[in-house]
Amino acid sequence: MNSKSLNATSFKIAIVDIGFSLLTKDGVVLINECTIHDCYKNTQQTFHIKCGKKTLESICHKNQGQLQYNKQHFHQIPISYGSINHSDFCALLRQVLSQFDCILVKGDQKKSVLKNIVQKNTLCVLDFSQFQCPSIDSLFRLYENSNAPIKQSSCLFHNSSFQYCTAYKTQMLHTWLQTRGIEVYRLYRSWMRSRNE
Ligand SMILES: [Zn+2]
Repeated sequence: MNSKSLNATSFKIAIVDIGFSLLTKDGVVLINECTIHDCYKNTQQTFHIKCGKKTLESICHKNQGQLQYNKQHFHQIPISYGSINHSDFCALLRQVLSQFDCILVKGDQKKSVLKNIVQKNTLCVLDFSQFQCPSIDSLFRLYENSNAPIKQSSCLFHNSSFQYCTAYKTQMLHTWLQTRGIEVYRLYRSWMRSRNE
């Protein structure tokens, strides 16, 4: 049982989004970008994860087509770009996320990638689909022409409203979460109960 005393006002939620250079059916996962959005402070941090030389040689060569496609059609980040290596990034993510009560991600794949990195059943990770959140494309269309357009401020690579930037996406998801007044806390409590059964 988590002994931390919790109430809805001190409840700390982070939205995490992950960008991939490569994500294959046989389990090859190359993360290139990740944003952690602190919902309480409304601040975010974005990291760019560089691909090591060995990985480049072993994995990237045979997946060259898919890597190029993802870059051109989605993230635009060169494979060699980044300021932190994968294992340091994983350690940092574990450390930062341990400060939150609940983590929200969009989609099954990202949820499972995140859980693999964190490797901790004590961390509550919820999927936006549990709140009937629209697709990222729908959110983009909803917000791109609004009177108060959404802009990210933590990613140094992408412009402030690039659709496939993880910083931009977490900013959109946070805005959506606020306007809907979703009961994340209630779902968290039910997660806690199921864990203690
Ligand atoms: Zn970005």
